Amino acid sequence: MADIIKLLPDHVANQIAAGEVVQRPASVVKELLENAIDAGASTIMLIVRDGGKALIHVVDDGIGMSATDARLSFERHATSKIQKAEDLFNLNTKGFRGEALASIAAIAHVEMQTKPECDELGTVLKMEGSKIISQEVGATTKGTSMAVKNLFFNIPARRNFLKSNHVELRHITDEFHRVVLAHPTIAFHFHNNGSEMFNLPKSNHRQRIVNVFGSKTNQKLVPVTEATQVVKISGFINKPEFAKKSRGEQFFFVNHRFIKSPYLHHAVVSAFEGVIKPDTYPGYFLYLEVDPASIDINIHPTKTEVKFDDEHTLYAILRSTIKHSLGQFNVVPALDFEQDQNLETPYAYKEKEAQVPRVAVDSGFNPFQEGSKSKGVSSYRKESNTGSQAWEGLYTGLESAIGKEVAFSSMQFESETITGSVFDEEKESLESTATTFQLRRKYIVTTIKSGMIVIDQSRAHQRVLYEKFLKNITIKGAVSQQLLFPLSLSFSSADLVILEEIKESLNTIGFIFGKMENETVAVKGVPVLVSESEVGMVLDQLISDCQMEVSGDSFSQSDLLAKTLAKTLSVKTGEILESASQIALVNNLFACKESLVSPFNKPVYITITENDIDRKFI
Ligand code: ADP
Ligand code: MG
Repeated sequence: MADIIKLLPDHVANQIAAGEVVQRPASVVKELLENAIDAGASTIMLIVRDGGKALIHVVDDGIGMSATDARLSFERHATSKIQKAEDLFNLNTKGFRGEALASIAAIAHVEMQTKPECDELGTVLKMEGSKIISQEVGATTKGTSMAVKNLFFNIPARRNFLKSNHVELRHITDEFHRVVLAHPTIAFHFHNNGSEMFNLPKSNHRQRIVNVFGSKTNQKLVPVTEATQVVKISGFINKPEFAKKSRGEQFFFVNHRFIKSPYLHHAVVSAFEGVIKPDTYPGYFLYLEVDPASIDINIHPTKTEVKFDDEHTLYAILRSTIKHSLGQFNVVPALDFEQDQNLETPYAYKEKEAQVPRVAVDSGFNPFQEGSKSKGVSSYRKESNTGSQAWEGLYTGLESAIGKEVAFSSMQFESETITGSVFDEEKESLESTATTFQLRRKYIVTTIKSGMIVIDQSRAHQRVLYEKFLKNITIKGAVSQQLLFPLSLSFSSADLVILEEIKESLNTIGFIFGKMENETVAVKGVPVLVSESEVGMVLDQLISDCQMEVSGDSFSQSDLLAKTLAKTLSVKTGEILESASQIALVNNLFACKESLVSPFNKPVYITITENDIDRKFI
């Protein structure tokens, strides 16, 4: 048989390698910023056009490169940062693989200008798909300028795979945040499509965080410091009252490098246990310094995961350091470290008012009178029910057994039988006799011809609100309530960019905005369904959902907005609904176009037919 194995030509190998290094414009931004930092720059400028698809340009005032190095830097495995294998265990630079520039040049048009300080003239080099197009001597300033244009110009499939410009810009901004927070002593500028997004002067960590996330951040920060032999920890946590429903401002840096670590994240979250509401996340900016020899950053191509030698010790130190900060800065009124966790009242229950036990007295009950016995028993039953309901309230939020017990296979989701006309027939009797009741503050139970249905109250309300908002956005028919005194809300400049993007859609559902500048937004009108006190929360949630949408599955911006509003404003599990609200909710649900599933594709209700029940009694 003839030999069939061939070595791949360099440009093909580079394109393949590029797939790993360059996933999207944000990856290029990360690599170029890191190169500038490694070059010892004191000021770095990032310029981006069309979400980085058209242009990513990084200019630094670092050490620059000689003409030969300029050429060599685009070769694969060309690096000035390590020379031998041992160097890998003592890394002080961001890069070390020597792959980034080779990968970027394989899939874009690159123009580099570079000059070391001591040289009179610099080098101007143009590359296209791994090929050098031109190399000239030119008058340039000290440092390096890298312009990367038309990303993936030669791999249309990859280019088509990119998300919209604003989503790509958000990825870039995330990457930018990670880099600038790790390096407060370097000044950064960031321009997008000609307008300035960030202007960050050289500063300390605290000022840098505030400059990035807006002036309102300052009051949220609680300092954290600890120095042990294993690790030095510094940075900030957000005060518990600023914990957010979504993940967002959570940053770990190890030796000035942003990392992701679910394990260390858990250490922080567990330190906050009991002081923040369940389902909310604390914000943190934590800087860890460890011996470079005790970590391995080589395990992931994009280098955000790190392997520590002694993770367990790190976990314990981190957790107790955070607890200490929370206590020391008096953000927790009385945090007793010795106290048994099991004795603590669950947070959700702390907020609730104590309920006075209700005692039903049957005044007509006469123990000596025949026939009144049964009456006595029934009133006792009623009482024990209320008692157990209050007791069950303790467990709200825990998965109810009801939904699970009914096997999915036994549910009948024949939409013809359940929704629409059949239900309409039932509606009459439903309204007049009010045969609904609430189960464990989570489900609404009601009867239909064929048996009963159990409705998840929160999901049902989500469905109702979702359709309502979607309709408002589509036909622009929302009613707005004007505020007598406009609200002034503050947002970071990055949040404002997102708000600007979704402003028009928000108008259609009833928000009226005044000026948006200097990190504040004037809100002059709100949708009728949103109360004044909810506005801040709703907008925060919208912004963070838009950020997340990056990986989300929404069809469109309006779909995303409607989903977020539905989620934020819906009745939650644990809320008591009066009988009139129960009936209204059931009626509204079945007036929906699609009542079976929530906007997040979860079942809204299940039916249990008489047959199903009969079968259980066999
Ligand atoms: P790595 O950073 O892993 O070494 P890169 O492909 O990113 O690999 O860069 C290759 C080499 O090019 C670097 O080792 C460095 O010597 C040089 N280089 C890249 N960018 C710059 C820059 N902005 N300033 C000075 N030198 C640079
Ligand atoms: Mg590099």
